[in-house]
Amino acid sequence: MSKSARWDSKDESKHLPIYQHKHNLIQAVKNSTFLVVTGETGSGKTTQLPQYLHEAGFCKKGNIGITQPRRVAAITVAQRVAQEMQCTLGREVGYQVRFDDCTSQDTVVKYMTDGCLLREILADPGLSQYSVVILDEVHERSLNTDILLGLLKKLFSSPAKASKGRSRPLKVVVMSATLETDKLSAFLGNCPVFTIPGRTFPVTCMFGTAVGPKDTESTGYVKEVVKMALDVHSSEMAGDILVFLTGQSEIERACDLLFEKAEAIDYRYDVQDQTVEGLLILPLYGSMPTDQQRQIFQPPPPGIRKCVVATNIAATSLTINGIKYIIDSGFVKQLNHNSRVGMDILEVVPISKSEAQQRAGRAGRTSAGKCFRIYTKEFWEKCMPEYTVPEIQRTSLTAVVLTLKCLGIHDVIRFPYLDSPEERFILEALKQLFQFDAIDRRGRVTQLGELMVEFPLHPGLTRAVLKAASLSCQDMLLPVAAMLSVENIFIRPGHPDKQKEADKIHRALAAKSGGMNDFATLLTVFQLCKSSDRPSEWCRQNWIHWRALKSAFSVETQLREILLRLQQKRDFPVETFDGNKGELFRQCLCTGYFTNVARRSVGKVFCTMDGHGSMVQIHPSSSLFDQEAELNWVIFHDVLVTSRVYIRTVCPIRYDWVKDLLPKLHEVDVYELSSVAREEVTDEEMMKWETREAAKRQPEVSAEDV
Ligand code: ADP
Ligand code: MG
Repeated sequence: MSKSARWDSKDESKHLPIYQHKHNLIQAVKNSTFLVVTGETGSGKTTQLPQYLHEAGFCKKGNIGITQPRRVAAITVAQRVAQEMQCTLGREVGYQVRFDDCTSQDTVVKYMTDGCLLREILADPGLSQYSVVILDEVHERSLNTDILLGLLKKLFSSPAKASKGRSRPLKVVVMSATLETDKLSAFLGNCPVFTIPGRTFPVTCMFGTAVGPKDTESTGYVKEVVKMALDVHSSEMAGDILVFLTGQSEIERACDLLFEKAEAIDYRYDVQDQTVEGLLILPLYGSMPTDQQRQIFQPPPPGIRKCVVATNIAATSLTINGIKYIIDSGFVKQLNHNSRVGMDILEVVPISKSEAQQRAGRAGRTSAGKCFRIYTKEFWEKCMPEYTVPEIQRTSLTAVVLTLKCLGIHDVIRFPYLDSPEERFILEALKQLFQFDAIDRRGRVTQLGELMVEFPLHPGLTRAVLKAASLSCQDMLLPVAAMLSVENIFIRPGHPDKQKEADKIHRALAAKSGGMNDFATLLTVFQLCKSSDRPSEWCRQNWIHWRALKSAFSVETQLREILLRLQQKRDFPVETFDGNKGELFRQCLCTGYFTNVARRSVGKVFCTMDGHGSMVQIHPSSSLFDQEAELNWVIFHDVLVTSRVYIRTVCPIRYDWVKDLLPKLHEVDVYELSSVAREEVTDEEMMKWETREAAKRQPEVSAEDV
């Protein structure tokens, strides 16, 4: 394909495999309620099908909504489609992800995260604004997409509900890369499957020697991946490289190394009459600014080889043209429930074999390719599972169970799951909801639970925010909640001297907030920056990420709007506080974090009080590090598991503040909670939910930011 400086994307789309099936696809959508569409990644499903349906007039009676498990994918694809349809992003074509709504009155084709659609269902269970809902990337098996599948299936189990208030019945399209389509069709009442025939070329896969069965926690693979990329660059024919790593910091490190080394090598050699002179190195990860992401898709200048260093997002969500070589680290960052500490944590784990095949496949889209795996054959055989376990079977279900309960689905155990989670995970979720007073002893949603579901935050944090609001001190908690919802705001430079300087400044900021309270430090940073005349300059001087803080400002405004709306309801709780005003902030935090309480055991070691009794230590990044001797009781925001378990974002508390809350951790009868969970919902209750005043659109529960 020839690429002029401004190539015509509309024309380009006619070369995609999906194009020949345009007419039949439109017919297939018209002919049935549910349709499964499958095809190789890159065949045009995500960018083209919504446009075809738009052209076919589906937008006359409602919008077209397309869900993505990852926020970057939703944003990038919407940008691309807006460009193809020659409209401004946010007008006819828009997107909505958590804390970022780029849609308007005119938007008819809306890309969004699966969490966003789940929130829309809360306000409008029949999805009456939509004529078509497309669940995309279903093979990813994200928690929210799995729940949406079950909800849509349930919606059509009573046809009257599904057609209520609409002139045309809702159509549901489920799109997936080639895996598991029979299972999906069977789940959706044996609906038709439309397969887009793909052309793929052979990819030769080679195993390496760097990562073996003993290296499942190895982090030395970054160097190996870099070495491999340079080898490919200096010995292989023209063609771009795609490197798979696990996250932002690793990717940035790899890019720095590549940059250093690639420059040092003097390249100029001919491969099949093309001269490869240099390497264009481009990172790609979730929280990257979108203008930088756009570069990824542009063809490199003549004679230059592109090398994209990406997270798993490049495996199926986004297709980069021109890739001929894959370098696979064999690892991925995944949210898993860690039974050692009883919490969800982001872990780096070996990918599954099917995932490895998917990664390799990215090299064979337009011609034969090669995939270099840095791990051994033995690692493949012994450490990599056949398939990736669906998220619903490995993460906390607390937020999702609350959403289901708020939708009037009390029987969360017998909900139609594509793959059921273990019952103990559901019980664990019910237990947590009970502890936060979101449900009562009989498993019914409380008034507080109905307020909590409106916040796209962890239930504990929401609980603390609501407590603060009831005591009229939300101004302290909202900024903290916002700061904990964005990427890390503290910059830690690589150079040792600079690192010392940054650490010193950060310690001074902590001291300004009274010291010894990491939550208060977050609040102080937020306030100081906000009141500064030149906030970006302030951030630069204080080694703070300006971009992260800007997001925190916007998140805080949005959380404040949600709260204001809820406070206007008549039944919003109001309380009085008769304790020491100086302790108000920490006491509010305790109502949300009493599940994360630790007591000092011996020396630097603390013991958690949640029944797991994990031995933990304060992370060096905390202002309480090295002050352990003065502490007895602390609460913490999250944990980092390495060879030790560290607690991060910590603050000291008094036992008195959690004394009455702690017994709740142990005195729950999960069987009582769940026996009610099995009761059928009455029609009356269902009616109540359906007539519930349609709340304003809200952002999602949780976003896949990796
Ligand atoms: P599928 O959903 O079947 O995997 P897509 O619709 O995502 O396929 O991709 C179709 C084509 O559109 C690919 O060739 C891809 O490179 C191109 N494409 C997608 N997004 C962009 C973008 N933001 N910029 C340029 N090209 C893009
Ligand atoms: Mg796609």
